[in-house]
Amino acid sequence: MEKVLKDSDDNLYKVKKLLDESHEIVDRIKALKAEKAQLKPLCGSLRRRMIRCGKKNCRCRKGQLHGPYNYFVPSKCRGKWQYITEEDITKIEQGVADWKKQKKIDAEIKDVLARLKEIRREMTGLIPATE
Ligand SMILES: [Zn+2]
Repeated sequence: MEKVLKDSDDNLYKVKKLLDESHEIVDRIKALKAEKAQLKPLCGSLRRRMIRCGKKNCRCRKGQLHGPYNYFVPSKCRGKWQYITEEDITKIEQGVADWKKQKKIDAEIKDVLARLKEIRREMTGLIPATE
């Protein structure tokens, strides 16, 4: 009998630890979502590119290309380059950085949610069935 009580105390302790951990996870998810809400992500990358103009007798015809010019390349529709002016560069760079950050945040949220599921499973095994 004593042994059974002890096991049950251990279980309660484990359940408490798991509950604490799940509360921490919920807080972490809230923080990550708040951080994500601040981002202005641009899905793509910034590239510098030399170009050939359309003029017949231009130096670029002989290999002396113009540029470099800055372009934003959306990641899902390759080939659709968007010319970026010098003053917009910082904004675009920030957007691209935000996009990378957003991917990291999404990955972490996915991880902690998986852990939360695991905790629920562990707790189910620890809480005795009541009759
Ligand atoms: Zn040219």
